[in-house]
Formats: sequence, structure tokens, C-alpha cells
Amino acid sequence: MEPLIQSPEINYCNSLTQYSRRKTIPVRVGDVTIGGDNPIVVQSMTTVDTMDTQGSVEQCIRMIESGCQLIRITAPSIKEAENLQNIKNELRKRGYQTPLVADIHFTPNAAEIAARIVEKVRINPGNYADKKKFEVIEYTDASYQEELERIRERFLPLVKICKEHGTAMRIGTNHGSLSDRIMSRYGDTPLGMVESALEFLRICEEENYHDIVISMKSSNTQVMVQAYRLLVQKLNEGGFKPYPLHLGVTEAGEAEDGRIKSAVGIGTLLEDGLGDTVRVSLTEDPEFEAPVAKALIDRYTHRENHQPISAITDYPINPFEHTKRESKEVYNFGGQNVPRVITDISRVENISEKEMKAVGHFYLPELDKWKMNDLGCDFVYSGKNPIPFMLPNGMREIQDVEVWKNTKDQTNKYPLFSLIEFHSASSFHSELNFLQVLDTEIEAASKLVKDRTDVVLILNTTNAHGMPALRRAFVSLIQENNSIPVVVKVSYPDQSSDQTMLYAATDVGGLLVDGLGDGIMISLEKEGGHTREEVLDQIKLHNNVSFGVLQAARTRMSKTEYISCPSCGRTLFDLQETTAMIRKRTDHLKGVKIGIMGCIVNGPGEMADADYGYVGSGKGKITLYKGKEVIKRSVPSEKAVDELIEIIRADGMWTEPEII
Ligand code: SF4
Repeated sequence: MEPLIQSPEINYCNSLTQYSRRKTIPVRVGDVTIGGDNPIVVQSMTTVDTMDTQGSVEQCIRMIESGCQLIRITAPSIKEAENLQNIKNELRKRGYQTPLVADIHFTPNAAEIAARIVEKVRINPGNYADKKKFEVIEYTDASYQEELERIRERFLPLVKICKEHGTAMRIGTNHGSLSDRIMSRYGDTPLGMVESALEFLRICEEENYHDIVISMKSSNTQVMVQAYRLLVQKLNEGGFKPYPLHLGVTEAGEAEDGRIKSAVGIGTLLEDGLGDTVRVSLTEDPEFEAPVAKALIDRYTHRENHQPISAITDYPINPFEHTKRESKEVYNFGGQNVPRVITDISRVENISEKEMKAVGHFYLPELDKWKMNDLGCDFVYSGKNPIPFMLPNGMREIQDVEVWKNTKDQTNKYPLFSLIEFHSASSFHSELNFLQVLDTEIEAASKLVKDRTDVVLILNTTNAHGMPALRRAFVSLIQENNSIPVVVKVSYPDQSSDQTMLYAATDVGGLLVDGLGDGIMISLEKEGGHTREEVLDQIKLHNNVSFGVLQAARTRMSKTEYISCPSCGRTLFDLQETTAMIRKRTDHLKGVKIGIMGCIVNGPGEMADADYGYVGSGKGKITLYKGKEVIKRSVPSEKAVDELIEIIRADGMWTEPEII
């Protein structure tokens, strides 16, 4: 791969190899300061109707107690903006000083009221002064300038009020809701997202107003990461102040998928020292969001002291565009193949057929047959505990070389070597061999295997700054024109399943977003005193998280993707219940993306690149979409899931679920 960007031109972060946080200006939001030398702030958003003062206050308190330091509340119209005063008064009366943020879409008049009441206002530059008509308009430079003048007129009063009242502002761009003007000129791109914020930022700077935080959210993790990086780069190049960043992935979804997707986006940026406040948005009660954000942030508390990683002078990766590292095809790794999942089962002695369900392979004893679900791993690593029965179809086993040498039937069984073992090996598998190395061994390994067509590297690190250490190893391979396929292996000590999801998503997802990695393997660093059942549960977790990370980084789609909004005071139905109901009927539709949005105001824009959409359009009424096109309006909610399935069926994308 030709070097695309020389590192001196990359200034979106302080260093690609030494952890340090980007220096930003401090922005005061009531008692909390975002940016400067302050710790990263955790924030979240209420889901109760803003007109329900007591309900909102109770929910705010639950959120504060779960670790939320800043609370956003939607203000869709003047009456909600005015009611923020009652919510604020009640919270203060009860002794809670947590600053409040008003969330504004489409309604400058609500923003102007809210800015006098709460400590911060969030505006969406895509819809503050524009109503989206999904029109492509040809602008001349003069007509574009006229548009900017119109925005300025609409936006200036809010800037003045914020200045006067000491109210902070977030300019919060969303990938899904860019204005027609931006879409026409820049398209649906990271550059369009950045420019959308800069249009508003320029007006603020001209007014000498700097209490600004910026965000670049998307539900597509690749777009989101690229947009934030590009934003910082453009701020630096354009001579803007270094404004703090609010990090978030929109419409991340629920449960495991929502956590993994959030971590791929947010974690990747935190690794490079970007981000001053974090909001994780899950389709769950908001009090579940702050602990996830905190778990992501806490990883960086002592990160500066990591082992040194050699500096990069020429950076051969384009951080603003996804380009997969070219790798040669070895067996079914690399080349055009999807990234492979290797699941580590080496801690289970004499694993039984039945226990293979932990890795997505199911034995049906009555038929003496095997079935595999969508999360059936491609390879298992059995180490020194070889599988004692005939492997199911589609299953391949990696054994430590010492075991492999003595295995009689080597069908679908492959050896794993350490660097020393590889050096002194007298025999290899004719098609596929695995060489496990640390990042620090990459140069030695690279020389050894460069011309081989039967070797896949399994790359691991012990460096606490793991993702950048592994990225550094990839840079060495690229610079040496070594196209050997690489599986990224991460190992963690005994930790909670949430931590495993978040850390693996950050460490491997961050590389995948940059096009690095031909596979994933998650292991435990050392064995704890676990029962066999607990070990199998961990294996299942590692297997499922592996597929989740590949999907969240958009490199291998193995399940249905739900782009569901976190809900807010605008939501017109119970999002959690509805998402669960839709998931139950559709979760066998591999690779299909379904948007589930609480309101018609923002929903259609924010479901981004969903294939189908289920959007609340009135009390008990749902509007159904195919892409951005409305297919059925005002469907009664009792019939809406059936109708959605009919739309998918008519489109030829429906399959009947298989019963295992
Ligand atoms: S799409 Fe969901 S989170 Fe966004 S404004 Fe509508 S209801 Fe609220």
C-alpha cells in the first residue's frame, strides 16, 4: 500500500504512540468544567416527557446516582423549554446541583428560552435553521453565501443570549441529519459533518463566544471516528480554538450490541487522547448509560505510564477514510475474505459435543448431526486440550504445535507456533500455520514469514496502550510491504463481562475501523478458579463479542443490525419493548439493518443508512420506511411489526427463521 499521509500532516491527536490527552480550552457548564485539564465528564439524557416535572426529576436523580455529571433534557417546543425551569428548581430544592442541557432540534425559539434557564444548550446545526426536505439543490457561491447569511440571522440571537447568561453550547452534528445545503455540496460525508459544525462555529467566533463543545455523531462507527478526527484536524488547520469534544455513537442500540458499538466508536477516539465528555446512548433506561461511559473513561486514568512504543515518522494509514490493509489470501484468511473469528477453548479439558454450543456449533444427538448458528466461530484454539471427537463440518481446530505433531487425524487441524518454535520447526502444515507473536517481535517475525503463503500471524501485546501498540506493529508490516494476514488477539485478566465487551471493542474495533486485522481472538490472560460452567460462559461471551466487534466495526455482518434511538421526551412508544418485539421476529435476518426511532421529527434523519425503518408518527401510529422512502404511513402500532415484515418480504429480503 502506498503511504497516503505523512505523519507531519496528521495533527488530529498529540501522538499515535504515546498516550496523552488533546489539550482543549475549558468550558464551564454550571459547576462542571468540560475540557482543559479536567477529567472526562460523563453525561446522559432523560427519556421522560419534559412536561412531566416529577417524572423528569426522579429520573434525573436516578441518573445522577448512577454517575451522570451532566443531564440533557429535550425541549421540542416553547412549553418544554419553559418547564426546564420547574425541573431545575425541583432538583436544586432537593440538593442536586447537576447542570442541565436543553436538547434543541428545529426550534430556535425554544433554544432562546432554554438558554436563559439551563447551563448549556445543544443545537443540531443540521436542523437549527433548516427544515429538511431531502432536496438536492445546486448552489452557486453567491446563493450559498446567502444561505449562510440566513443562518447567521437565525442563530445570532441565541449566541447573544448564551454570552449574556454564561450558558455553554454544544454544536452537535449528526450524520443522519445534515442540512440539504451541506448534503448538496459535501454529501453525506465526514467532511460534510465537519463543515456543518464549522458554519455555526464561525458565527460564534466572530461574536467572540467560545463556551462551545462540539460533537460529530453517527451510528456508523467508521464515519463517526473519521468525522471527529477530521474535525480536530480542520480546527487546527483553520486556526480555531481547540474546543472540547463530546463523544458519542448515535442509535447504538441495546444490550451487548449497544455497548460494543459505543466502545468501537468512543473507545477508538479515547485511545488517541480525544474526548472531553462522553455520552453512551443505549436503548435502555438512562441510568444504565453512565456506568458504561465511566468504564470506558476509567481505562485512561493512568494510561500515560505505559511501556514506550516506537514513534511513527511516516504514517501509511489514512485516518480519515476506511481502507483495508491489503493482505494476501492464506487459506481462508486475508485477501477478500471476511475477518475470521478464532475462539479460545483451551481451558476446557475434553470438551464434549454438547459444550460446543458455546462457540455457536450445535450437536443434535437424535440425528447425529451438527448445526451452526450465525455466531458459529470459524476456528477454535484448543491449545493443549485437543477436541476428543470428530470435528463438525465447518469447524477447524488450532492446536499447540507439540500437540498437533502427535495428532493422528490432522484433517482440519492446524499448528500454532511461538517465534522460537517456528525458528526451529522441522515440519509445517502444507496449507495453514499460525505464528503467535507480540508486537515487540513483529520485525523478527516479519522477516521470517514475509514470503510464506502458508502462515497467518496472531498478534498480541502486553502494552497497557494496547490498540496503538498493535497499530504500530501493523505500520511496520505495511512499511516492509509484508502482506501476511494478521489475526488480532487480545487477552484480559478476570473481569466483568461488560469490561470484556468494551475493552475488546476498543482494542480490536479501533484497528478494524482503520482497515487493520484479518481476524479476532479473545482470551483470558490467566486462569481463575472457575467452574467448568463459568469457563464455558466466558467462552460464549468471547465468541459472541468477537462477532459483535466485527459487526460494529462494519467489517463482517453476521446478525441483524438494530439502529434504535435511545428515546427521549419526544418518544411516541415504549422503545425498549418495541425493540425487543421487533428483534424477536427479525433477529435471524443476517446483515439487514432496521431503524427503530421514537419520533418522526428526528427519526427518519437519524436512522442513517438503515434498510428499513419503524418510526413513531403519532400516538399509537407508526410510519414504515424502506431506506429513506415512506412505504406506509400511520399504521396502527398493533399491526406495524407484521406490516414491516411484509415490506421486508416484498423486498425479497425475508427468510423464515430456522429452528435449532
Ligand atoms: S429519534 Fe428518538 S431520541 Fe431522537 S428525538 Fe426522536 S424520540 Fe428522541
